[in-house]
Amino acid sequence: MSQYQAPIKDILFVLDQLIGLDNITKLDGCEDINIDFVESVLTGAAEIATEVIAPTNVDGDRYGVSLKNGVVEVPPGYQEAYDKYIQGGWNGLGFKPEFGGQGLPSIIAIPVNEIVMAANFSWSHLALLSQAAIRAMEIHANDELKNLYLPKMVSGKFSGTMVLTESQAGSDLAALNTTAEPEEQHYKITGQKIFITWGDHELTDNIIHMVLARLPEAPEGVRGISLFLVPKYLVNADGSLGKRNSVEAVSLEHKLGIHGCATCVMNYDAAEGYLVGQPNQGLACMFTMMNDARIGVGNESVAIAERSYQQALTYAKDRIQGTTHDGGKRVSIIHHPDVRRMLLTMKSQIEAMRAIVYMTAVELDLSRRSVSESDRKLHRKRADLLTPVVKGWCSEISQELTSIGLQIHGGMGYIEETGAAQHFRDARITTIYEGTTGIQANDLVGRKILKDNGLALQTLLQDIELTISELDTGHSIITRIEDELSESIESVNSSLNYLMNHYRDDQHLAGSISYNFLMMLGTLIAGWMALKSAQAAAKKIQSNASDQAFYEAKITSAQFFTEQILPKVHAYGKSIRTSSTATMAMTEEQF
Ligand SMILES: Cc1cc2nc3c(=O)[nH]c(=O)nc-3n(C[C@H](O)[C@H](O)[C@H](O)COP(=O)(O)OP(=O)(O)OC[C@H]3O[C@@H](n4cnc5c(N)ncnc54)[C@H](O)[C@@H]3O)c2cc1C
Repeated sequence: MSQYQAPIKDILFVLDQLIGLDNITKLDGCEDINIDFVESVLTGAAEIATEVIAPTNVDGDRYGVSLKNGVVEVPPGYQEAYDKYIQGGWNGLGFKPEFGGQGLPSIIAIPVNEIVMAANFSWSHLALLSQAAIRAMEIHANDELKNLYLPKMVSGKFSGTMVLTESQAGSDLAALNTTAEPEEQHYKITGQKIFITWGDHELTDNIIHMVLARLPEAPEGVRGISLFLVPKYLVNADGSLGKRNSVEAVSLEHKLGIHGCATCVMNYDAAEGYLVGQPNQGLACMFTMMNDARIGVGNESVAIAERSYQQALTYAKDRIQGTTHDGGKRVSIIHHPDVRRMLLTMKSQIEAMRAIVYMTAVELDLSRRSVSESDRKLHRKRADLLTPVVKGWCSEISQELTSIGLQIHGGMGYIEETGAAQHFRDARITTIYEGTTGIQANDLVGRKILKDNGLALQTLLQDIELTISELDTGHSIITRIEDELSESIESVNSSLNYLMNHYRDDQHLAGSISYNFLMMLGTLIAGWMALKSAQAAAKKIQSNASDQAFYEAKITSAQFFTEQILPKVHAYGKSIRTSSTATMAMTEEQF
């Protein structure tokens, strides 16, 4: 079974050459950041990820989690890995120093998370959800709650959860029934929630549940939802732990993948909780968590695809099967063109996914740390547009790539021994939680495009055109990428025009084409990243930088993407523009 190697060189290439780390160093609190500093942080993360966390991955899948006498038991090595992770301060990397964080920007925290997620996908969900809870607290909680809970959440002594889903309320949170009754200075929270990631365990001293519930007399639907902090153990004013709150995991879900992650059915029986944010504004507060978590899911899609790729590559170099094309000597399967196609499909899209996630991380940092309000708004808008693409496109592509990773192993991929199947099973959740791909696509087309009259998207398309117009490499492959990308922009532009001109006449148009729109846009942005990557690599080659082979491979990877993946933009575009009424034409009985 292959060992995970953190792809530090690839990560640094994206940070330094593609998205411009210097955009960040001008920001408040980022003045001392440079590429050497980032490299040292990533090297530290790689050390703990490969030496401490990654070895728990296979056992995590095999032993899984169990609920015994009300206690969630975790796989071997989980506690030690978590203790080392928080001792190293990794949990608080991106949070405010006033609560014990290191105040680093997302553009450092997100690559670190990628490395940790690739090491053990299931285990890493504990930090992913905790970090989303911290973000919501930082922004929406009052000072009393922040001071009492945030230092321990940031250090990782307490973990956090995100508690939305009920059996009748999944994508449709308007249907949730959990109640919150006011009592003295707090509320009594009552209801049952399902599918709660790391809802219970003993890895941390306390678990802080961020729960959506309804106040008495709250308006119907999403306007009547509020957010509450509900601790597993009550916390005294001096920070010490008090009595156990009436919160418990009543069962664990049995799942296709992420066996090493506890997904709990949680019961809240008049549990003591505290309002976070304003009454009936819970969904807006929860969106702070969800947006972070959605980018986190895009990031973990990169991570699991990278892990799958590394394993497939090792296998392809080792497995001897067949001969050279002239029937000569027996060769390892990496010599066969179709295996190379599969490897390049993985490599080129992982590189593109990573670049899209990191580009969004920069937008997040600029939206939080820019000096002027107008700059913050501008970058917020770009981050908002990119978020459903990061979550939706990257998670969909991770299905394809982890499946290819398995395919490269042939039959050895389908049986469990090699571990290729685990990555495929683990990746399967990414298109479902934090809003399914259908919900991301609706968000992209409905909220981010139609509600905005397509303006944010047009600005993005102009930025891609600007990259093309500034090219000066004279490199034939790059010219080819440039031409293909220009044609793809035209395709997206005409699909956008079609949507804007017709959505009012056909109430089902937006919903019928939204998935294809999301995939089209993801593929286009990936092509943009491929162009930037090839351009940066060509400059490095021209300047005689060391490791020419690395940069040549970046150009080949971008070329492959342009030849074999980018043309999908036209297919998606055509399906959008010629979208007939077929989607809604059949009766339920005809299906
Ligand atoms: C392993 C796991 C971990 C999870 N962790 C958490 C967690 O920590 N906290 C938490 O609160 N929840 C969690 N969830 C729940 C998860 O967020 C939901 O499963 C997800 O949002 C989908 O809801 P649902 O399962 O009810 O599917 P449904 O909402 O029933 O959707 C079923 C299908 O219908 C489609 N659909 C539904 N509505 C629409 C619409 N309006 N337009 C177009 N298509 C639509 C969906 O895309 C989907 O394909 C987790 C789930 C799993 C499986």
